[in-house]
Parts: sequence; C-alpha cells; structure tokens
Amino acid sequence: MHKKLYPVIGKVQHYDWGGYEFIPQLLRIENPQHKPYAEYWLGAHQAASAELIDQSHRCSLYACIQQYPVDTLGPAVERQFGHLPYLLKILDVRQMLSIQVHPTKEAAIAGFEKEQRAGIPLDAPQRNFKDRNHKPELMVALSDFWLLHGFRPEADLWNALEKIPSFRGLAKRFQQAGYRGLYEELMLMSPEQADALLWPIVKDATRRLESEAWPVPNDDPAYWLALAVRQHPPGKHLDKGLFSFFLMNIVHLQPGEAIFQGAGVLHAYLRGQNVEIMANSDNVLRGGLTTKHVDIPELLQHIQFAPVQPQPIHPIQARENAAEQLFPAPVADFQLSRIILAPGQHATLKAHTTEILLVLEGHLIVQNSDDLVLSAGQSVVMFYGETIDCVAQGEVPALIYRATVPQH
Ligand SMILES: [Zn+2]
Repeated sequence: MHKKLYPVIGKVQHYDWGGYEFIPQLLRIENPQHKPYAEYWLGAHQAASAELIDQSHRCSLYACIQQYPVDTLGPAVERQFGHLPYLLKILDVRQMLSIQVHPTKEAAIAGFEKEQRAGIPLDAPQRNFKDRNHKPELMVALSDFWLLHGFRPEADLWNALEKIPSFRGLAKRFQQAGYRGLYEELMLMSPEQADALLWPIVKDATRRLESEAWPVPNDDPAYWLALAVRQHPPGKHLDKGLFSFFLMNIVHLQPGEAIFQGAGVLHAYLRGQNVEIMANSDNVLRGGLTTKHVDIPELLQHIQFAPVQPQPIHPIQARENAAEQLFPAPVADFQLSRIILAPGQHATLKAHTTEILLVLEGHLIVQNSDDLVLSAGQSVVMFYGETIDCVAQGEVPALIYRATVPQH
C-alpha cells in the first residue's frame, strides 16, 4: 500500500422498495431501465465492499483492510474489532420497509452459536442470526423522512387504540397487561382473530386512501396502514404487522435531523431519503410487512417492551474543526459527523482509523500529494494516520458526511 488516501466507489443495492431517481442523480448514473436504487453502501462488508481506485485499477476495501489491518485501521481499532466496524449507507425509501428489531451483542452471540449448533446454513431463509454482532443504527434525514420508532408512550398508545371501535378490546388489554401483554397477544393470536380486528379499519382506510381524503404524507396511522395494504395486497389473511402503526410512534424528521435505533427498539422506515451508519452486521428480526422470514417467538425475545419518547439527536460541535458537527451515539462501532464548508473555507482532517468522506453537496478539493476534486456523490477513504486539508470550491457550500470510529 503506497498511499493512505484513495477515491472510493460504493455498491448499489437494487431492492424493490428503492426509489428510481435520488441515488442515480446523486451518483450521476443513467437509469433507463427504471431499476429501483434502494441503497448505496460505503464500507468493507465482505459481500458488498466499496472499491478503492488506484490509478487505473480498482481493489476491494475489504481485501485491502484484510491484507493491511494495522496500517489501515490503526492499532486500537484493529485490536478492538479486527475489521472495519461500521457501514455507511445512503437510502432512498420509496416503499416502506419491514418492521424490525436488532438484537443486543450478547443475544446475537448466543443466537448465532445456537443456530450454528443446530446446523442451519447461513444462507437458509429461516436463519435469524447471520453473524455475532449487534446492529445499532443512526440515520440523518436528507429529505422529509417518516419512520416507525419504538412503542408509543402509554396515553398515546391507549388513545390510538380507543379511537378505533374494533380495537377497544385491545385498549383494555393494554391497560391490564401492558406493552408485553398486548404485543404478545396480537402476535400470537390466530390469523382469523387478527383479521376480525383489522378488516373494519383496513376497509375504511383503503376507501379514504382511494378518495384521496388525506393530506399526504401525515401522521395518521390509518394512512400508513392503507398504504401498507396497497403495497402488500393481502393473501388469505391480513399481515399482523398492520397493528404496528397504532402501537408505534410515527416520527417525521426534517432534513438534517437524526435519530438513533438501539437494540430492542422496534422500527420501520416508511418514506424518504437518509444517510445511515450502522455496525457491520446483518442481524434483523422481523415483525411483519415483509415477504422474508418472520419468527415470532424469537422476535418477542429481543423487543424492549417499554414506551419510547422519540428523541431527535442534536449534533454537537467537534473539537477538531469549527465546521464539523458530530451526531453522538452510545456505541463504540461508529461515529458520524457532518462538515459544512463555506466557499473557500478550509478544514484539516486527521484519520483516526479507516475513515470515509462522502460529499453530498457542492465541490471539495482534497489537498494531498496529488489534489483530488470531489463533487456531490463522490467519496474518498483515508487510512489511519493520514492528514488532509480540504477546501470548498465554487459558489455553494460543500456538505460532507464523515464516517469513523469514536476515539477513547
Ligand atoms: Zn433496522
């Protein structure tokens, strides 16, 4: 490895729920086949690693870190993790994602070992644990962004149920048995019982959606329920995940606002674009609105049955740079910050491990032995120990997201 700074190109994931324009426009890719561009991954995931560009050839960031772990990650991160512990992504959510929860690290280790002992292949559809890691996530909205995030506070949840005539029995159940009692009852009841509770509201909400009676989008649970039914037309039975819109907080983030999802917090992305950073893991337990495997008994073991008051994260000033703001998160695996440079403004950045800089707006000159000019959608990786000087070029400010690992 002769340098410590390289342009880097991520991997696009064409999941069905992705949008058609946002990611192609950002990356300046034509999309004549109208393919969904769901995610753009910048990281060293073994299955979808970003690639470094070294003059005329490309090499995988994963392979490069494998080959030179201490030179790339630095001794502290190499010792603690042995690999790049984070994955940085851009998401464009056109259709809502499944309702999900991520395990704690301890539960992930136990679950992974158990499935290994049971001989369930890693790629089997019924496999719950793909690795031994937790998967905390932090996202910053790039547009208006809607998501489900944790159970509603008590009074709010009770009100949401009490308003729907067919749900009044559930409101009573919640008063008697709390979050766990209510959720277990819903998830374990027969499909016929769930249908009887859901059909009246599904019919009414679908009619309202078709007559365009709603301002869109909005925070009415029935609106999202109707959209979910349109997205997953019911087979023999309705999806029990539909209850989630009444049980969980519907959160609307403005561009630039951030939220953190720790272990045990049920969540689902509904609509919008974001930049997301997470621990390098694939451990997802699903609770509906998906065609993928749903294991209810396993899911119930990993949910935190407690109210969540959604807390948008307020960025804090970085010590190193006046132009940099950090989004604090209670994990050792990643740190995300945002750098905004006015035209002509400089910033000096020192890499504490393998770091990724992604330009989202404007133009940036990275001054090094050879200068690199980056425009929106372009990124660089810098390895441990590298120091660079950046300057915003042109008429508009440069907006850059920086992924790294917190220092101790
Ligand atoms: Zn998630």
